[in-house]
Amino acid sequence: MKTLEMVHEQDPQPLPCDKDALKESIRDALIHAVGKDPRSATHRDWLHAVSYAVRERIIERRMYTKRLFDQEQVKRVYYLSMEYLIGRMLVNSLMNLGFYEPCCEALEELGTNLHEIVEMESDAALGNGGLGRLAACILDSMASQCLPGYGYGIRYEFGMFHQGIEHGEQVEHPDNWLRYGNPWEFPRPEKIYPVRFYGYLVEHRERGEPRYHWEDGEEVIAMAYDFPTPGYGNKNVNNLRLWAAKATRDFDLDYFNEGDYIRAVQEKIESETISMVLYPNDATAIGRELRLKQEYFFVSASIQDIVFRHLDLGHGLDKLPEMVAIQLNDTHPAIAVAELMRLLVDTHELPWRQAWAITQGVFSYTNHTLMPEALETWPVALMERVLPRHMQIIYDINFHFLNEVRHNFPGDNDIVRRLSIIDESQGRQVRMAHLAVVGSHMVNGVAALHTDLLKKHLFNDFYRLWPSRFVSITNGITPRLWLNQANPDLAALITRHIGDDWTMDLSQLQRLEPQVNDAQFREGFAQVKRRNKEHLAALVKQHMGITISPDALFDVQIKRIHEYKRQLLNVLHVITCYNRVRDGRAKEQVPRVTLFAGKAAPSYVRAKQIIRLINDVADVVNHDPANDKQQVIFIPNYDVSTAAVIIPAADLSEQISTAGTEASGTGNMKLALNGALTIGTLDGANIEIREAVGEDNIFIFGMNADAVAQLKRDGYRPWDFYAANEELRRALDMIRDGFFSPQEPGRYHDLIHHLLTEDQYMVLADYEDYVRAHEAVDALYRNQEAWLRKAMLNTARMGYFSIDRTVMQYAREVWGISPEGWV
Ligand SMILES: *Cc1c(COP(=O)(O)O)cnc(C)c1O
Repeated sequence: MKTLEMVHEQDPQPLPCDKDALKESIRDALIHAVGKDPRSATHRDWLHAVSYAVRERIIERRMYTKRLFDQEQVKRVYYLSMEYLIGRMLVNSLMNLGFYEPCCEALEELGTNLHEIVEMESDAALGNGGLGRLAACILDSMASQCLPGYGYGIRYEFGMFHQGIEHGEQVEHPDNWLRYGNPWEFPRPEKIYPVRFYGYLVEHRERGEPRYHWEDGEEVIAMAYDFPTPGYGNKNVNNLRLWAAKATRDFDLDYFNEGDYIRAVQEKIESETISMVLYPNDATAIGRELRLKQEYFFVSASIQDIVFRHLDLGHGLDKLPEMVAIQLNDTHPAIAVAELMRLLVDTHELPWRQAWAITQGVFSYTNHTLMPEALETWPVALMERVLPRHMQIIYDINFHFLNEVRHNFPGDNDIVRRLSIIDESQGRQVRMAHLAVVGSHMVNGVAALHTDLLKKHLFNDFYRLWPSRFVSITNGITPRLWLNQANPDLAALITRHIGDDWTMDLSQLQRLEPQVNDAQFREGFAQVKRRNKEHLAALVKQHMGITISPDALFDVQIKRIHEYKRQLLNVLHVITCYNRVRDGRAKEQVPRVTLFAGKAAPSYVRAKQIIRLINDVADVVNHDPANDKQQVIFIPNYDVSTAAVIIPAADLSEQISTAGTEASGTGNMKLALNGALTIGTLDGANIEIREAVGEDNIFIFGMNADAVAQLKRDGYRPWDFYAANEELRRALDMIRDGFFSPQEPGRYHDLIHHLLTEDQYMVLADYEDYVRAHEAVDALYRNQEAWLRKAMLNTARMGYFSIDRTVMQYAREVWGISPEGWV
C-alpha cells in the first residue's frame, strides 16, 4: 500500500513553505489576487493575501490526499451535519500545516503583524452550539488522524446571528460572514445536483412490479463549495463540502426568454432562500416547512454525490456498505435513509430487500438529546406534500419494520404503537429519531449516562429489540484548538516538560502528574493562568469599559442560554453572595467575577429574560460601592473565538444542568483541560470527568438523574424549597419585587411565578447544595497552592476527552475503518 509521503514525493515541485517563499506568495497574492498596493493595504487586505498564500498550499495537499484515497480504494466516512461551528480558519490552518512561525516572520518583514490581521477574520459560525462544534472537532480529528472523512452540510449565507446587548437585552443582527469574500472556499460550479420538492407520483408496472416516478413540483440546484481541512502535523487534507441552493433557471438557457420576466426572477430568489439562513435554535425542534426543505436539500445533494463517487470509482452498489459509512449527526439528516432507498429502488431499480440491507449497512446515527421538545417530528401531511415519494418509502419501511416487531413481540400491540415511525397520537407525525434508528446499523449516545438513559427510556423498546445496535461514544474536543491554539502559554509550558506528543496523543498529559509536586512548575502554571486572566480583563475593559481584577476568582458559565442549563441557579447564587456582602456576613467569601456568555434563541422568550436578568443584576451589583466582593459580567456574542479567549482565563467552570438533561457537554471538557475546576451536577460527561480527575478535584452538588426522576414522580413542589430556605426566599423576592429592575418592578413577575409554581428544571431543589458547594470553592480558593494542585491535576487527567479518542471509537465500533496502512 502507498503512503501519503510517497504520493507527495511524486510531485515535481510542491510550493515551498519557508519564510521567504511565504513572503513571496503573500506579496504576490496581495497585488494580484486582492488587487492592493502593499503601501496602502489594510489589515483585511493582508488577511486575504495571507489566506490565499496558505490555501494554495492546502489545495495542493488536498489533491495528493484525494489521489491516494482514490488509488488505494479506501473505505470513506461521510459525516452529515446541518451545522459546523468552525470559527476562524487562518491560525488553525497555519498551526495544522506547521507554518505558523515562518508566516509570522514573513508578515513582520512585510511590515504587518499576524496578531492584528487575524482579528479581521469573521468566525464561520454555521452552527448553534455544542452539536455544530462537535462536527468541527470531528473534522479536525479525521484529518489529523489521516482518516478518509468527508463533511457534508449547508453553506448558509447567514450563519448564527450576531448578538448585541442593548439596555441589558439581547438584540440579533444578521451574520453576513461572506460579505468580504471567503478565501477558504472553492466554488465548484460544475458539481451540481438537482433536488426536487412537491410534485406527485406516477405509478406504472414493470415486470409485474410497481415502480414510481416522482414528477413535476419544484426543482432546485445544489452547488458544491469545498472547504479543504488540513490535518495537524501531517500532509493529509480532507474536504468539507457545503451546498448552496441555486435556481434551476440559472442553468436554463431559456431563462430570460419567457413572458413573465419579473416572476422568473422572483422564483429564482425563492429557491435560493433554502440555504439563506441557519435556524438559530438550540435543543428545540423547529417544525417549519423551510427547515424540512433545508434538511432534504443538503441530504439529497450529499447522497447523490456519495453514490456518484462510489460508482465513478468503479464499485457496484452492492459494495456500498463495504466502501461507505455515513454518520447522521442527530436526526436533522435522517431523511437520508429514505433518500438512499429512493435512489437504490427508483433510480437504480434494486429490489427492496437488497436496497434495505445496503441502507442499513451504510448508516449510523448519533443521538444528541433526550428532551422531548428537541425530538424532531414532521406532520405526515407536510411530508406528503413536500416529499411525496419519501413519505411513501417511509410507510414501506415502517410496514416491514412493524412486521419484525410483531414477530418479536407477538400480541403486544402497544409496543407496535410505541415503536412505529408514525406517531398516531397527536395528529399524524413522522418520528425522525425512529426513522434514524430503524435505518442504521449502529446508534450512539454521546456520554455514558446519556446512552444509559437512551436505553432505559427514549429508545428502551428499540434497545429490547436490537440491544447490540446501541453504543456509547463519549464526546471529545480537539486539543489542537482548545489547548495548543487557545492557550499557547500553557501549551508551551506543557511541551517544555513532556515534549509535544500530547497534541496528537492527549493521554500524554498524565505525565504532568509528578510535576504537581514541583514548586517551579506550579509557579509556571500559576503565571500562565494569571496572564490569561489579565488578557481577558484587558479585553473586558476595552470592549465593555468595565474593570475586573485578575486577583478575583473567575467563575465562568459560557454556553447557550437555556432553562435546562440553569443560568438562573447561578444568578441566584450571585444574589445570595451579594446579600451576604450587604449584611456584612461575607468575610469568608473570596472576591469573584461571575462571567456569563451565550446566545438565546430569538423566539425563546424566557431565555431572553434570563439574559436581561443577568444584566440587571450586574448593573446593581457592579455599581454598589459597598460591594467589594462581587462582579457580574455578561460578555456579548459568544462564539468560538470568544470561547478561545475566556476558557484559558477561567478558574471555575459552571456545568450545572439538571441531571438527565445535558447529553454530554463539551464546554465542560474545554474548561477542565485548561485547568478550571468544575462545579457541576452528575449530568452528561461531568460524570466521566469526575472519574477522570478524581472526586477530590471537582465540586459535585445536587440531585443525580435518579433523584430528579424520583422527585418528579413524587410530585415536585418548588414552593416548599422557597419556604424552607431564607436566603433563597430573599433572592427570589428581590427579583420578583423589582430590586434589580426599579424602572419596571414587575419585569420578572412571570419568571419568578414560573419558578415557584412549575420550575421543571428544579432550580430551587438544587439551590441549597449549590450554595454549599460554592462555599467549598471559596474555602479551597483561599488556599492558592491547594487550588493550583487540583487545577493542574485537572489538566493532567483530561486526556481521555480528546476528540481523537472519540473518533477512533467511531472508526472501530461504528464505521469499520482504520488508518493503518496509509499513514
Ligand atoms: C464548546 C462550545 C459550545 C458547547 O458548550 P456546552 O457548555 O457544552 O453547552 C457552544 N458554543 C461554543 C461557541 C462552543 O465553543
